[in-house]
Amino acid sequence: MGLLSEGSPLNWEETKKLADHVRKHGAIQFINLYKRLRDKQGDVLKWGDEVEYILVKFNDAEKTAKVSLRAEKYLAELQEKEHNDPDNVKSLWRPEYGAYMIEGTPGKPYGGLLAHFNVVEANMQYRRQEASKLLEPGEALMSLTNFPRLGAPDFTDPPAVPTPQSGASRSLFFPDEAIFSGHPRFKTLTRNIRSRRGEKVAINLPIYKDKNVKLPFKENLAELGDDGSSEKAAKDNHVYMDAMGFGMGCCCLQLTFQACNIEEARTLYDQLTPLCPIMLALTAASPFYRGYVTDVDCRWNVISCSVDCRTEEERGLKPLKENKFKISKSRYDSIDSYLSEQGDRYNDVPLTYDKDIYKQLLDNGIDRLLAQHIAHLFIRDTVSLFSEKVHQNDLEDTDHFENIQSTNWQTMRFKPPPSNSSIGWRVEFRPCEVQITDFENAAIVCFVVLLTRVILSYKLNLLIPISKVDENMARAQKRDAVKTEKFWFRRDITCNTQQGDIKDEYTEYTIDEIVNGKEGTFPGLIPLVNSYLSSMDADADTHCTIQRYIKLIQRRASGELLTTAKWLRQEVLTHPEYKQDSRISQRINYDLLKKIHDIEANKVPCPELLGPCIISKTSETVPAAMAKAENCPIPD
Ligand code: ADP
Ligand code: MG
Ligand code: MG
Ligand code: MG
Ligand code: MG
Repeated sequence: MGLLSEGSPLNWEETKKLADHVRKHGAIQFINLYKRLRDKQGDVLKWGDEVEYILVKFNDAEKTAKVSLRAEKYLAELQEKEHNDPDNVKSLWRPEYGAYMIEGTPGKPYGGLLAHFNVVEANMQYRRQEASKLLEPGEALMSLTNFPRLGAPDFTDPPAVPTPQSGASRSLFFPDEAIFSGHPRFKTLTRNIRSRRGEKVAINLPIYKDKNVKLPFKENLAELGDDGSSEKAAKDNHVYMDAMGFGMGCCCLQLTFQACNIEEARTLYDQLTPLCPIMLALTAASPFYRGYVTDVDCRWNVISCSVDCRTEEERGLKPLKENKFKISKSRYDSIDSYLSEQGDRYNDVPLTYDKDIYKQLLDNGIDRLLAQHIAHLFIRDTVSLFSEKVHQNDLEDTDHFENIQSTNWQTMRFKPPPSNSSIGWRVEFRPCEVQITDFENAAIVCFVVLLTRVILSYKLNLLIPISKVDENMARAQKRDAVKTEKFWFRRDITCNTQQGDIKDEYTEYTIDEIVNGKEGTFPGLIPLVNSYLSSMDADADTHCTIQRYIKLIQRRASGELLTTAKWLRQEVLTHPEYKQDSRISQRINYDLLKKIHDIEANKVPCPELLGPCIISKTSETVPAAMAKAENCPIPD
């Protein structure tokens, strides 16, 4: 999806007055869209990835690495080809929250052939090269979930100073210059989320209690210009963060699938839901925040808190007066309800939804499960509105619907077809953390795509109660979750019973058991993928490509290879300058990022992360692999 609504952003007071207007017309727009498109059939599998990158500026003389705030300049250059010839580009580039971030996707979605797996990595390499070519000496494009010193003193190039008393974030740590300013959306969201909440956002991550961390760990925030509000929000023994940028300034890896019709999309949405925490744990890649080593491995809760616009009433801290609902989660969080009929019986968390909109949707022929999903999204106010877009043609436009939809940032997203396009019903898989190398990212992408094929072909059922998926989300983020946690998972995924006690349907497994199987008990996702592949007759190259990816996932799941998070921790904790104080100095940061950059460029081996063999079959030369893909017939 492109960015919504360029133009003049409204401030929170103006936006707030129009919140009901946006909801009302957003609901009508969804109804119209639904009536137009519910019977759309016969779309083929298409899919594509999104990779987010950060720009890093190295200073080899001073041994520093900082985020480079030059994304806007490079983005303009990267988008030029698309502007001139949108149908014939191999990559698409989009802005992201950080002034140091960009997002790249393939120029066109991939199709249903296994042979397409051969070009995923090559396309990622192409994107990396294409963007890297533009950079200044000393700059690097890195696919890193979080910049370790984001928000630590002097972390940007050029330097920028936080402004606690003014601006969009009012952060003690994160200057507004680090927010992408080429599109008004990002600063507007930042300002409006803070205004709606009535105070700055607050993120507290437990610090990693290494032996020289003085307990209680507590920082002097007054020194940084705090007026007392941060002091109140900051918890002892936690790394405190106070701005949207700490979460939305992280990078991730997302995947979108087109289903053949709305029913299949609903099934995929549900079936992929229990895999969200599993894939989050497997891709864990962000143990460092604001220059500290923390005790968590993933970004998820950080982003969730970073855009938590709920008021005190909505958070249940005060009785409801101004607001309509008590709301249990941030607008960025795991999903709250399944969408398919099969999923209905596993919807066990109380769902907050807008009753009027729900009724309006039912009255217009939308079924209960879809109606409650939409009415649940619509408990949120718009937090970004542009004056030019207030009045719309509800028969054709979908901006108001998209406005609310696209600011419900959940683990899964159910994406209706955009107006005026041939695109079908899609679902987006959003939990994964981005990995250092294209090889790893391609492996994750191909694995998840294969899982969708296996689920649909074998009619698997992975559903467990939503409350259990939520528990898994919390477990997934713990330090070293792959090795030390167990996760709720369906006992028999080949069984579709709709009777009996739900409690008997799931149990706890390790990630290793879920992915690789448990003798006599659970078949394992990879053995199922392999059995699917053996019926597919892939050519030798494709087979080899897929097996390299599968091996990586198998080894990460078994613990034979480290997760990115664990490897990152190890690098910092064994750095000669590290003082067992959970601090990442400029020098440690520099050395770590240099090493990551060398690993990514294949200059330095990293078998503990990547395994013994990482020679890529798909990197013959990028153009050749791309050409091969273009000759692949894409089924109609
Ligand atoms: P958003 O940021 O809203 O998730 P993007 O446009 O950035 O959306 O990314 C969407 C992803 O979906 C890209 O990887 C793109 O290749 C892929 N894609 C595009 N068209 C289709 C389609 N018809 N079906 C499935 N995926 C698609
Ligand atoms: Mg996006
Ligand atoms: Mg995108
Ligand atoms: Mg993005
Ligand atoms: Mg996306």
